[in-house]
Amino acid sequence: MSFHQKFIVLNNGNKIPAIAIIGTGTRWFKNVETDATFSNSLVEQIMYALELPGIVHIDAAEIYRTYPEVGKALSLTKKPRDEIFLTDKYSTQIKVSDSPAAGLEVSLKKMGTDYVDLYLLHSPFVSKEANGFTLEEAWKDMEQLYKAGKAKNIGVSNFAVKDLEKILKIAEVKPQVNQIEFSPFLQNQTPGIYKFCQDNNILLEAYSPLAPLQKKTAQDDSKPFFEYVKELSEKYFKSEAQIILRWVSKRGVLPVTTSSKPQRISDAQNLFSFDLTDEEVDEITELGLAHEPLRLYWNEVYDKY
Ligand code: NDP
Repeated sequence: MSFHQKFIVLNNGNKIPAIAIIGTGTRWFKNVETDATFSNSLVEQIMYALELPGIVHIDAAEIYRTYPEVGKALSLTKKPRDEIFLTDKYSTQIKVSDSPAAGLEVSLKKMGTDYVDLYLLHSPFVSKEANGFTLEEAWKDMEQLYKAGKAKNIGVSNFAVKDLEKILKIAEVKPQVNQIEFSPFLQNQTPGIYKFCQDNNILLEAYSPLAPLQKKTAQDDSKPFFEYVKELSEKYFKSEAQIILRWVSKRGVLPVTTSSKPQRISDAQNLFSFDLTDEEVDEITELGLAHEPLRLYWNEVYDKY
């Protein structure tokens, strides 16, 4: 296997591996965290990922209830901690803990580590009434964790331009990352967010980058899109998923992907062994835009935007 790891330099000068190959949400998501819901298959999948060469990027969150599995895998792996890039997120929309600092204290214990590489506010939906603090106060708490070295980088998720503007007004530490839903069929989760983050040097991360494949049906209204992805897959001897993930990265966005299948995890970690031309990237962009927008998450809130 040819393997070429790529990194992106964040706005604070730190490096991040250019793909997160093991998301622990979506198909692994649980409503409760008990012995009975512990997933051995998730531990196996994380262990498999941690055996791959290079720095392995894991995406976790308070609301996924998968810290026990991440902790178990971290305790078993031989990969040194500095070859693991661990992202965590503080749950804002559903209260699990009292503050980002309180949340991180618990998650570090559960995952058996002293720091996370990236800590995100899971959404901008924060209010004094619901959470006991404002969005600005939540960000100040994040900055304290950054200064204490418990979160090596900090950022946000599902933020629209107006939410980022609020934070940028008061920030001593600018968010390094905004993790949003992004795929060929959803190229702006909220109006103007792609350009705003690029212009402000805030790295976009794409969750559900494979939404087109997840939701593909026989009646799909964008046959040309799938035909073109298939054509590129045959040209480069890569899977259709790899073609789409590579397109995401060529758009300057870091893909966060999930699979229950080891081969797909390894394909993702090996994403930079081929390249797409600028023309191919543009063609996927255009064919994706010709498809009706496809949003998998947060429909109820973003319908208002
Ligand atoms: P993906 O778009 O990578 O989707 C993964 C799913 O696609 C898996 O179920 C996988 O199935 C399937 N898949 C992979 N390859 C193919 C293929 N060729 N054809 C059809 N299906 C395929 O990402 P997710 O939607 O899972 O999101 C990734 C991560 O992002 C999550 O785990 C979570 O960590 C994070 N996330 C963050 C959110 C936020 O609000 N910040 C919201 C949602 C997710 P299989 O298992 O069979 O391979």
